[in-house]
Amino acid sequence: MDDTYQVIVVGGGFAGKAAAQELGRKGTRVLLIDANNYHQFQPLLYQVASSQIGVSAVARPLRAVFRNIKGVRVLTAEVTAVDAAARTVTTADGTQFQAQVLVLATGAVPNFFNTTGADKFAYPLYSVADATRLSAALTEALDEADRGNGDSPDVVVVGGGPTGVETAGALAENVKYIVPKYFSSELAARCHVHLVDMVPNVLMAFSEKSQAYTRDRLVKLGVQLHMGQSVTEVRPDGVTLADGTVLPAPIVVWAGGLQAGKIIAESGLTQGKGGRIDVLPDLTAPGVEGVYVLGDSANITDAAGARLPQLGSVAQQSGKWAAKNIHADLTGGTRQPFRYLDKGYMAMVGRGAAVAELGPQRIQLQGPLAFLSWLGVHLALLPGVQQKVRALFSWAVGYVTHSPSQVVVGRPD
Ligand SMILES: Cc1cc2nc3c(=O)[nH]c(=O)nc-3n(C[C@H](O)[C@H](O)[C@H](O)COP(=O)(O)OP(=O)(O)OC[C@H]3O[C@@H](n4cnc5c(N)ncnc54)[C@H](O)[C@@H]3O)c2cc1C
Repeated sequence: MDDTYQVIVVGGGFAGKAAAQELGRKGTRVLLIDANNYHQFQPLLYQVASSQIGVSAVARPLRAVFRNIKGVRVLTAEVTAVDAAARTVTTADGTQFQAQVLVLATGAVPNFFNTTGADKFAYPLYSVADATRLSAALTEALDEADRGNGDSPDVVVVGGGPTGVETAGALAENVKYIVPKYFSSELAARCHVHLVDMVPNVLMAFSEKSQAYTRDRLVKLGVQLHMGQSVTEVRPDGVTLADGTVLPAPIVVWAGGLQAGKIIAESGLTQGKGGRIDVLPDLTAPGVEGVYVLGDSANITDAAGARLPQLGSVAQQSGKWAAKNIHADLTGGTRQPFRYLDKGYMAMVGRGAAVAELGPQRIQLQGPLAFLSWLGVHLALLPGVQQKVRALFSWAVGYVTHSPSQVVVGRPD
């Protein structure tokens, strides 16, 4: 058992990275373990899947992130077991680590809500690996149709939240601008993008005005909306809806929901909604000593007790706040309850079009101004200078030429 570290952070996403950075800068000895050797920026995965930007724009090596923070050791390893009560983690090769404080920030995995076939045949979009697999599958479906072998290369996107809306919008733009240019107008006319959700409208967390704008933009891009319809089955050749309608499509994208992963489920902590841990106001897990659960693995509440959504800003702020509380734990200070700075929501609906509801007052923007805010915020949040430059370059080229900047390499498995 290795107990050289004061703090173990599992997961180098928004929450774990922020926590480790803050702690490392304070001189705390931290072991950061992630299954991948990179930090991935999930909000732009749909752009990787639609070939708008490359992997190197959304992923930054964790060792580059921490190269100047000497107290943090990055370990690339999958954590296969967590014992929250003992504050130990075990990695895939059987090594066990223990520390005074354990931080669980392993994000989320797709929740298929027991939909028949979804776990086998739908493409989730929660990791760089998911995005590249989907990108390869989309390209292969087009090539197959171009060779005259396949059916129409239609796509069904399940889930009308920001991820589903952004994905459907980007794919519809590819059908509108790129398929006619790279293949033919005839093939483009055979490509359909469907967006399905059981709730009555897209972007349910947004205002009615934003929803109406988004619906209108998606329809103008050619997206076929199936709101108020749940998917009962996913098959290799499409989906069946609750009313019996069959939407044929070789590709089904799952943006339908999240839950905490296996590590959290088997940690010995009591799970709440979505399998997440209902953390206390100071972000610690109830019933154990010295365990923090952050970001998408936790149900975190604001000062008024309202549950916060699974967002990058919540994850990042929870990471920074937890670091302050952990520092207090290690130095005899007092933990403080988490205070969330609400920055609002935004979603891109295609070229020059977005919706944004900024700050706690939900200042509403639609259209080009929201699009520019979206670009600015995402550029600022990308994890490194090289990633920002690459994304900006790809966006500029894509905007001016209506061509994807990326070559898709690989085949879907
Ligand atoms: C497609 C998509 C679009 C999004 N768009 C937005 C947006 O526009 N704005 C916004 O605010 N939020 C957005 N979100 C939500 C936001 O990305 C998440 O809320 C945020 O990433 C959560 O951060 P996290 O640190 O909790 O988890 P993650 O960022 O998921 O990080 C978890 C880390 O844990 C690691 N890990 C998991 N299991 C293990 C294990 N067993 N062993 C070792 N390591 C492990 C993973 O490799 C990963 O690096 C989006 C999410 C998705 C999927």
